[in-house]
Amino acid sequence: MNQECITGLTQTWKNICDQYDETEHLAALRFIQAHVETLVTIFYEQMLKEPEAAHFFKDDIIQKRLIDTLRKWLLETFEVALNLQFEQSVKRQQKVGLVHARVGIPSWFIMRGVREIQRKMFELLQQDLTQSSLLVCSYIVQIMGLSTEIMCRSYEFNTEKSQEIKHNYRLFSAMQDVAVHKDKQRGSLLDWENELMFKIFSGNSEFYHPMFSKSEFGLWFIHKAAYAFSGSDQVQLVIDRIYQVDALTEQTMIITDKDYLQDLIQQIRELNREIQHLVDQLFQVAEYIESGNDSLTQLLNRRYLNTIVSREINFARQNQAPLSLLAFDADYFKNINDKFGHAAGDSALKFIAEALQRYSKGSDYAFRIGGEEFLLLLVDTDLVRAMSIAENVRSYIEKGLIRTAQGQQFNFTVSVGCVLYDGHPDYQRFLDAADHALYAAKNNGRNCIQVTKHLSSV
Ligand code: GH3
Ligand code: MG
Ligand code: MG
Repeated sequence: MNQECITGLTQTWKNICDQYDETEHLAALRFIQAHVETLVTIFYEQMLKEPEAAHFFKDDIIQKRLIDTLRKWLLETFEVALNLQFEQSVKRQQKVGLVHARVGIPSWFIMRGVREIQRKMFELLQQDLTQSSLLVCSYIVQIMGLSTEIMCRSYEFNTEKSQEIKHNYRLFSAMQDVAVHKDKQRGSLLDWENELMFKIFSGNSEFYHPMFSKSEFGLWFIHKAAYAFSGSDQVQLVIDRIYQVDALTEQTMIITDKDYLQDLIQQIRELNREIQHLVDQLFQVAEYIESGNDSLTQLLNRRYLNTIVSREINFARQNQAPLSLLAFDADYFKNINDKFGHAAGDSALKFIAEALQRYSKGSDYAFRIGGEEFLLLLVDTDLVRAMSIAENVRSYIEKGLIRTAQGQQFNFTVSVGCVLYDGHPDYQRFLDAADHALYAAKNNGRNCIQVTKHLSSV
C-alpha cells in the first residue's frame, strides 16, 4: 500500500469520526471496554466451529496470543477518535493484514469474526438502550468496516507480492525450451546489428533502420523476458542499454562524418556485447532454477537432494546442531488417480506441497523426490520439533478437502517417516533411515508417523 492510499484511508477514518461527537466516541469506547472479554470470546468460539479456520486456532499458545492481540486491537481501534492517531491506526490495520498474509490466515476469517463481534454487540446494546444507542452503534459498525477493509487491502497486496515471484518462474517455464530461446534471441540481436552495419557501410547516406527497442530482440526482452526475469539485477541494466543503443542508432542515421560514425558503431557493438553477456547470465540462473525445481509443485526435485543433504550433514557435524528428516508418501494414491482422474491426483500432490511449506521454515528444504513421495529436511531441528511438524502436516492433509474440476471432493492421507541425524557421515544412511521409518508407518496402518531413532539400526 502506498503513502497516497494511506493518506486517503486516514482521511476516511477521520471523516467517520467527525460524523459523531465526543459523547458517542466515549460511549463507544466504554462499551468496548466493558464487553471486550465477551466479544473476544465470541470471536474464538465461532472460529473454532469453522472447520477450515479451526486448525489455525486450536493450538493453546496461538489462541492465547491471538486473544491478546484481538483484545488490544478492539481497544486501540476505538481509542483513535479520542487520541486522534488516525494514521498510526491505519498503519496498524495494514500490519495486521501483512501478518495474516505471512501466516496464511485468509481475510474471510477476519470478516467472519467481525460479523460475529457485530452480532454480539447489537445484542448487548439492545439490553441497554439509551437515546444515543443507535448513533454509537452506527459509529462502531463504520469503524469496524473500515479497519477490516484496510486489513483486507493489505492482505491482498502482500499475498499478491509473494505470488508474483512464483508466477514469474511459471511464466518463464511457459517460454518453452530455454535453450531454444537463448539461441534464437542471440541470433536476432546479431541480425539487427549486422543489418545496421550493412546499411551504414553500403555508403547510402540516407537509410532507415528500426530502433533496437523495436527489433525482435528488443521487443522480446522488454515485453517478455523483463517480466519473466523480474527481480534479477540484470533486467534494468539490459533495458538501459537497449535504449542507449537506440539513441546511438538514431545518430548513425543523420551523421555523415566517417570518424564519428566509426565511433558510434564501436559504441553500439560494445553495448550489444554487454547485453549479450547479461542475457546469458539471466539464462544461466533460469536454467539452474528450472532444472532444480519440480514444475508441478515448485518444490525442489531430486537433482540437488544429495548435495543439499550432504552439505547440511556436514554443517550439523561441525556445529553439533540437530538435523531431522521427514519422508512422506501419500497413502493409496493409485486409487485417487483411478477414481478421480490424474488431474485430481495432481491437485492432491500440490496440496501436499502446500502443507509442507506451511509448516516448515524458509531455512528448511522441501523436495518432491518422486511421484507422490516427498522429503522435508529440517535444519537446526530436534526430534520434538520434527515430530510436531510431521503431525501438523499429517493432520492438515487428513483434514483437507480436494475438489475436482467435476465438482467432486475427496480427502486422503499420508504416512510419515521421521529420523534424527545421529552423526554418521554417510548421507545415504540418513536418507535410508527416513525411508525405513516411512516403511514402518505404512506397515503400521498408514496415516501415521514412525520414528527411527538410530541410523545404525537401519
Ligand atoms: P501406498 O499407500 O502403498 O503408498 O499406495 P499407493 O497407491 O500410493 O502407492 P504406489 O506407489 O503403488 O502408487 C503411486 C501412484 O502415484 C502411482 C501413480 O499412478 C501415481 N503418481 C505418480 N506420479 C504422479 C503424478 O505426477 N501425478 C499423479 N496424478 N499421480 C502420480
Ligand atoms: Mg510411493
Ligand atoms: Mg503411496
